[in-house]
Amino acid sequence: MSAQKAAKAGKTTEKSSNLIPGATGDWEVVIGMEVHAQVASKAKLFSGSSTSFGAAPNTHVSLVDAAMPGMLPVINGECVAQAVRTGLGLKAQINLVSVFDRKNYFYPDLPQGYQISQYKQPVVGEGTVEVDADGETFSVGIERVHLEQDAGKSIHDQHPDYTYIDLNRSGVALMEIVSKPDMRSAKQAQAYVSKLRTILRYLGTCDGDMEKGNLRADVNVSVRRPGEPFGTRCEIKNVNSIRFIGQAVEVEARRQIDILEDGGSIDQETRLFDSAKGETRSMRSKEEAHDYRYFPDPDLLPLELTQDYVDGLKHGLPELPDEKKVRFIEAYKLSPYDAAVLVAERESAEFFEAVAKGRDGKTAANWVINELFGRLNKEGLAIAESPVSAAQLGAILDLIASNAISGKIAKDVFEIVWTEGGDPAEIVEKRGLKQVTDTGAIEAAVDAVIAANPDKVADAKTNPKAIGWFVGQVMKATGGKANPQAVNDVLKKKLGL
Ligand code: ADP
Ligand code: MG
Repeated sequence: MSAQKAAKAGKTTEKSSNLIPGATGDWEVVIGMEVHAQVASKAKLFSGSSTSFGAAPNTHVSLVDAAMPGMLPVINGECVAQAVRTGLGLKAQINLVSVFDRKNYFYPDLPQGYQISQYKQPVVGEGTVEVDADGETFSVGIERVHLEQDAGKSIHDQHPDYTYIDLNRSGVALMEIVSKPDMRSAKQAQAYVSKLRTILRYLGTCDGDMEKGNLRADVNVSVRRPGEPFGTRCEIKNVNSIRFIGQAVEVEARRQIDILEDGGSIDQETRLFDSAKGETRSMRSKEEAHDYRYFPDPDLLPLELTQDYVDGLKHGLPELPDEKKVRFIEAYKLSPYDAAVLVAERESAEFFEAVAKGRDGKTAANWVINELFGRLNKEGLAIAESPVSAAQLGAILDLIASNAISGKIAKDVFEIVWTEGGDPAEIVEKRGLKQVTDTGAIEAAVDAVIAANPDKVADAKTNPKAIGWFVGQVMKATGGKANPQAVNDVLKKKLGL
């Protein structure tokens, strides 16, 4: 969930059960994921062709990508660095020696007849990701991360009699990030992928754009009675949105429970999620590793890294969301919830910090989350497109802090800056929005309201809460510009409270 959406959804207080009630008792869902993340890199894994999205078909294809006989792959150092950074960001073991293998299978969009991947010795080993879902934090184990080539694309819908092949994607570097089966609900599965995407985007190792297919998840689902061994799993291929991940887990778990409750058993298979029909469908029975005849690619040497190289990359890592969250809670006295919303995207976190520096952190967080994110959300804008800059929002907060304007007027100023731009202090000056703190003016307004409402005055003497009505009247009379505290003080004095 993006920071903005999280802000809108508000705090979830109810904890959802991880158990799915069945006719004859409760079932637990078990989920493990294989996420394919396209490596952010200008060139492909073993060739210099461009990886840019949306080019005309077959315009980014080198002889290596087209698998011309005799062509040799040459490893792209940047892709390796990105995989190592990713491993470090996932607090994972970095393997100083890893091996590229050929995974052999036939498909028209795979001209090599094999995919270069890593099998027994991946570049990244075990790690962990801390995930928040429904106010609970849980850990998901990372099994491994390996580098592999993407395949080309088969296009079936251009012509009734032909299938076209576009090799632009052929050879683009992917990281396959394999989790342990540590998730227990659709929500947890969604939260895991969101968090993974956040980390990758902070690291700059994958842009995480699911719409472009830069992040796709194979979702493995099984069900069991709590406490029993894991059940047989089905793998749902290529689920390409967070929403669909949730739906796919739910319908697949339901399907398996129904089979088991009818006395049947689950066949281990690869399935497709059909979002239009809201169901999963069998694609093929699960292939086994030996079906692929994996063997080390004789064209490539083992990948050997030095500890110095890894340490150098570690040194260059940015502050990651978990660390940033802890720092925000400490430095700006934020609630864990607000901090989590703000760090969900690096740009939001940076925007917040630019506003909060040297100001009250809690107020800054409220304004960024409620006013700014709320408004961005309404317009469908990303933080980078915000018409109100951090400097402008900061200037509005300064005007509140110096009592120049009330919080209410500040919202009007925010709206003016949003639609017309400009310097908040100048806007306040020019439009005469400055708060009236001058007691003389406030006293005059109070006297007028008291004189006009003798019955209410009598009421206020016995019912102190009635003062609120007077404050409202005086604020109205002053166009919302009177300082509410000053109004309160003057009223109390004049009413003899
Ligand atoms: P394979 O080598 O056949 O792909 P793995 O053991 O590598 O199988 O697991 C692939 C994915 O399936 C991992 O993400 C793992 O967490 C998940 N997984 C394994 N067993 C189960 C299970 N019983 N239920 C749900 N997910 C599982
Ligand atoms: Mg696998």
